[in-house]
Amino acid sequence: MRSIRVARGCTRCPELAANRSRIVHGYGVADAGVVFIGEAPGYKGGDLTGIPFTRDRSGLRLQRVLIELGLSEETDPRLEQPRLCCFITNVVRCNPPANRTPSRAEVNNCLPYLWEELALIEPRIVVPVGNVAARAVFPRILNLQAPPITRAHARVFARDGQQVVPMRHPARISNADLARFREVLGRLL
Ligand code: URA
Repeated sequence: MRSIRVARGCTRCPELAANRSRIVHGYGVADAGVVFIGEAPGYKGGDLTGIPFTRDRSGLRLQRVLIELGLSEETDPRLEQPRLCCFITNVVRCNPPANRTPSRAEVNNCLPYLWEELALIEPRIVVPVGNVAARAVFPRILNLQAPPITRAHARVFARDGQQVVPMRHPARISNADLARFREVLGRLL
């Protein structure tokens, strides 16, 4: 299990560099067929642990989904260095002040790191988690503007052998939407 440190030492966004406890690099297996992409590390989660989607509520919910889908070898979603069979990363790798949504400029500053990771991993399936990630991934991978995440959730979009399966952000998802996502992604694995 390893972090891919493409953004090591980055100071492209002065406000984020001043606010973060650490840069949160993407984490998981480098030959993963599936990559989950969140918005930015949470101040009660990745900013403290250094691993995306750990410790906070969103992290617990996502780790549970990974376990249920066989994308994690763990049984306990609270583990902070889980042995994953997938890769998890974020559009923005630093926690924004007051946990705000990253600005467009911050997203643009950080996106080259995401493209570098995806080029290394070459995943078959990409899961943008929430609106910020869907807006970044759709034009790049599908050559499409992203529909609102409420409409795109748990649908399969494909281009050139790669599949994109958006997921509503786990901080805001209902149990029914979560079950639908599990069922749709589970069929592709
Ligand atoms: N934790 C992350 O790493 N990303 C999110 O989008 C939310 C929580």
